[in-house]
Amino acid sequence: MIVMKFGGSSIGTAEALRQVVGLVERFRDTKPVLVVSALQGVTDSLLASTAAAAEGRSDVIATGLAVLRERHHAMVNACVNAGAAACHARVDALVEELAGALAAMNGTHARDERAVDEVVSFGERLSAPIVASALASRGIPARDVDAREVIVTDDRFGSANVYFGPTDKRVAAAILPLTGAGTVPVVTGFIAATAEGVTTTLGRGGSDYSVAIVAGAIGADEIWIWKEVDGVLTADPSVVPEATLLSAISYDEAAELSHFGAKVLHPKTMIPAVDKKIPVRMRNTFRPDAPGTVIGERSAPTQSGVKAVTAIKKLSMVTVEGMGMSGLAGFAAHVFGVAGRHGINIVMFCQSSSEQNICLVSDAKDGRRFKEALERELADEVSRRLVDNIAIFEDVAAVAVVGEGMRGVPGVAARLFRAVASVGVNVLAIAQGSSERCVSFIIAESSADDIVRAVHGSFALHVAVTEKAVSPFAAAKSEVSGA
Ligand code: ASP
Ligand code: MG
Repeated sequence: MIVMKFGGSSIGTAEALRQVVGLVERFRDTKPVLVVSALQGVTDSLLASTAAAAEGRSDVIATGLAVLRERHHAMVNACVNAGAAACHARVDALVEELAGALAAMNGTHARDERAVDEVVSFGERLSAPIVASALASRGIPARDVDAREVIVTDDRFGSANVYFGPTDKRVAAAILPLTGAGTVPVVTGFIAATAEGVTTTLGRGGSDYSVAIVAGAIGADEIWIWKEVDGVLTADPSVVPEATLLSAISYDEAAELSHFGAKVLHPKTMIPAVDKKIPVRMRNTFRPDAPGTVIGERSAPTQSGVKAVTAIKKLSMVTVEGMGMSGLAGFAAHVFGVAGRHGINIVMFCQSSSEQNICLVSDAKDGRRFKEALERELADEVSRRLVDNIAIFEDVAAVAVVGEGMRGVPGVAARLFRAVASVGVNVLAIAQGSSERCVSFIIAESSADDIVRAVHGSFALHVAVTEKAVSPFAAAKSEVSGA
């Protein structure tokens, strides 16, 4: 069994949806289970409608509902033959129910997270039945599955936490009989419900998480995430034209890369897959023969150990310096506490072993605010001369070099910083976790692209990746057919 995720853009237009149907047809022997998002843009427009509802702007709501109804009917017209009348009726019933949910929020002037989750859930509740009917129209028996009946969460609306015990049982009980009977389940991504049946959501982009939850529960062979790109590359191809596809990376490498802005998967979404050791394959909808990138336990080794280089731009670095900071227990906690209380996410940080300098990197938009907050909250330390200077470096970028194999390979850092020096760039700060899986450093944003290119070239990443991707599924299949 393969659990396949199709995001909003994969089903955003009739043409895209037809392509999805074609892919399911083609890979039908894998016993696919689909997890789908709302049609592209629908979640955003539903969120906008909750804001309009809270403000009591019923004209805006009425227009929004009409557009939504039209769009889904048009999809049914374009992709559904068998059972089209029932499908149209379902769209109407759901839009009517949605209208009721919005009317209940009318003029409340408050953001009620529970009501917001209820409203946004309609995106996936509308898309899944259409995808299932489109499959059925092409002779592929399919049935939509409302994830609210199977994925059980707490009531942290907007970003709920999953209770895997009941979820695993319910998902298996709903899905396995369908796949067993040759029916393709089409599960609504993103949405879930509390044990009492109140609708929740798993956070923006949550369909990726839904896929892993479903795959974990049924013990799927693989997860396939279909996108418009080949998979994970050694660098951003718009910066490094010779960037190459990585055939296999580890879960940990994927987590490091996604942190650094590569469009991989949010690490949290992989947890159920990692726990059950299910490989996650990123595949290109336009090139279904290409193997994509497999994210799994094992990573294809490279000689230098380095796999990929990526940069996050639009960052600020705040430094706190002072000869009196050394040996001051609790000082770092104090500094981080300031960040935490002001809701500032620290992207990277480091401290020299002299303990006289701490640097903290945040989003550019938070930098000044963070510096000002530190100035206020460390005023006492400044007056006691424990802290001499609080400074900000704006327009900086973090470059990250990622690779499982760097661990224990001497000379990687030397080679890396020689490449940086060759571009004539000054490094402002460096951090490496003890996992040795990622080295990151801060430089002026204006040189980020040059550095990424220099590092990519220096480690010859485009030729370093040699091992061919192996699909455990393909292996399993050939075993079966050989038997
Ligand atoms: N439809 C939801 C969103 O746009 C979930 C998803 O697409 O993953 O965030
Ligand atoms: Mg989406």
